[in-house]
Amino acid sequence: MEITEVRIKLMDDNDDRLQAFCSITFDGEFVVRDLKIIDGQRGLFIAMPSRKLTTKCFRCGAKNEIRANFCSQCGQKLPADQGSDARSRLFADIAHPINSAAREKIQNAVIEALENERVRACQPDYVCTYDDFDEFYSDTKTR
Ligand SMILES: [Zn+2]
Repeated sequence: MEITEVRIKLMDDNDDRLQAFCSITFDGEFVVRDLKIIDGQRGLFIAMPSRKLTTKCFRCGAKNEIRANFCSQCGQKLPADQGSDARSRLFADIAHPINSAAREKIQNAVIEALENERVRACQPDYVCTYDDFDEFYSDTKTR
């Protein structure tokens, strides 16, 4: 598996821990979008696209955030969160590497692309190549 393209969308506010969004293409054939580049305590790390897990209210069936204390629909008190590993309990990765070699390969490619993008962003004619969803949909319509 080779990473053939990385597209970066830099965030304007560099004080924020979120440095950029990016998409990566594997073997010129498969794209994963919505990765986040986060400036963590131990340097940059790549967060895989994830979805927030929800829990169903046992009284009305409404979906609530896992850490919610009360149902947002009916106000029912929800069972207390018992876990300590909050991130892994709140989010599930949609796509992710399954071994550390693959994780490293992605990490290296993305961080290199981020550095290149920051250099390019200083040019007056800089255009971000990360597709917004609007462009994506208008592009598929023309095919
Ligand atoms: Zn409820």
